[in-house]
Amino acid sequence: MRAAVIAEDRTLEVAEVDDPAPGPGELVLAVKGCGICGSDLKVVEHLPIGYTMGHEFSGEVVAVGADPVGDWKTGDAVCALPLVGCGNCQHCRDTLPVHCPHSEMVGTGTRPGAYAEYVTVSSAQTFSLPEGCGYDVGALVEPLAVGLHAVDTAGVAVGENVLIVGGGPVGLAVALWCRHVGARSVVVSDPVALRRESALGFGATGIIDPAAEEAGPAFERMSGAPPDVVVEAVGKPGIIQTCIDAAAHRGRVAVVGICSGPDSIVPVSASLKELTMTFPVYYRHQDYAHSLSMIGQGRIDPVPFITHTVDLDGLPEAFEAIKSPTDQCKVLIRP
Ligand SMILES: [Zn+2]
Ligand SMILES: [Zn+2]
Repeated sequence: MRAAVIAEDRTLEVAEVDDPAPGPGELVLAVKGCGICGSDLKVVEHLPIGYTMGHEFSGEVVAVGADPVGDWKTGDAVCALPLVGCGNCQHCRDTLPVHCPHSEMVGTGTRPGAYAEYVTVSSAQTFSLPEGCGYDVGALVEPLAVGLHAVDTAGVAVGENVLIVGGGPVGLAVALWCRHVGARSVVVSDPVALRRESALGFGATGIIDPAAEEAGPAFERMSGAPPDVVVEAVGKPGIIQTCIDAAAHRGRVAVVGICSGPDSIVPVSASLKELTMTFPVYYRHQDYAHSLSMIGQGRIDPVPFITHTVDLDGLPEAFEAIKSPTDQCKVLIRP
């Protein structure tokens, strides 16, 4: 099959790779949609040459391995968590497969991902797409689940004020769910004008340009109070301190952005506010289920996330372009 793999110079190149075969409990999907994730732009620097990324995908079941979990058959329209756990440990049973000691990641380091014609997934982590959920939207369930898990972990409640630092796809997914759960002020801060504008279409009640005004004072001016919850959705050094500085006393900071380098904070600034900080990562099994249920009921509409679509041959160029984003939110590959 064809796949976009990591080239020597850390760009992507389309190459011929081995066709996947399903192991026990696994399914092979013909990839129908796969989003480019911001984290891919970072991990591409560290993953092995020749590796296939892509962890936000939907597809059609084309092969079913022995003893699958669930009644899967070829032709089923599905999406799947990009995680393969043992299925038997406490974490897997608690539906937090990312914490399973045997967890293997599809498209982010362990197993080949969906920047390809086919991808292998765990049948236990696969979901049918509901009526009205096409393959494009099916590929958005992963970033939606990231946002939902962050909002859930931060404990965003009805009537609370939320500041979201970063208006990329994850920040926008957080805004969508904050609105969904009944937050009062949902304000997105991002230096890119087009991202700020699109935030208003995803549940943001206000926007801040951090280049023009510091996020904390701007939020207070707009909402009349500092944010109960601040979500870090950037993943660059220095932003956690911005979140601490903006948060209300006894507030919560949820760090969703992925930053793999050191980042210094002044702990006492968080102590004096008695902040609670959480570091939600990935999602639970039920975050996929809930996202799909809300899509199926027509209660959320993530379609506007998709700003660009490309085929596999167009992926290497699109991947380079998104490194300096202009008007891209979610770029979707249709292999
Ligand atoms: Zn992602
Ligand atoms: Zn396990």
